[in-house]
Amino acid sequence: MRSLSRDPFARLNVVRRQDTGFTVDRTPTGDSFGERMYSCAWCDTVRYTPKGHPFTYRYGVSPDSGRDHFTLQGFCCKSCHDSYTA
Ligand SMILES: [Zn+2]
Repeated sequence: MRSLSRDPFARLNVVRRQDTGFTVDRTPTGDSFGERMYSCAWCDTVRYTPKGHPFTYRYGVSPDSGRDHFTLQGFCCKSCHDSYTA
């Protein structure tokens, strides 16, 4: 989990978490369950780790006290997240 920025008034950090999937569930047509699960909710881009696994970023907030909250959808980048939630 990586901290992107801090909101001192709300006393929380804006954070990012990487969710990594696998491409092993490929069907005979070449479709991949992992790629469908891990495509960007806004632009459908699938990003891959250096080892070839699809992944998305989940954005959320981490308050100084209490639990972290993340989006249910995965995104390829912060600007897609911001467009989706705007
Ligand atoms: Zn995107």
